Amino acid sequence: MLSDKIIHNKIKCRHCGLIMESEFRHDFVAHQCTKAGLISRRYDNDAGEYVPAYPYIAVDGGKDYVRVVGHYDDYEMLTEYEGTTHV
Ligand SMILES: [Zn+2]
Repeated sequence: MLSDKIIHNKIKCRHCGLIMESEFRHDFVAHQCTKAGLISRRYDNDAGEYVPAYPYIAVDGGKDYVRVVGHYDDYEMLTEYEGTTHV
């Protein structure tokens, strides 16, 4: 497990450039990017197949932990830890 202290828990949407930051534990920040095209990726249980959907990303955990929801194609990690710089 990472023991480094989290300074900023952030991700950036690759499609529109929006930067989202989770400020505190359970601060769940979600973004569905309508600027990106519809991507056939979301599994629809009723239809039993993948259906087109806008990319969905979210960041959570604040300074306690880093949890990211989404596909790596859609976001960029901007998390900053104490003593190190991640670009
Ligand atoms: Zn976006």
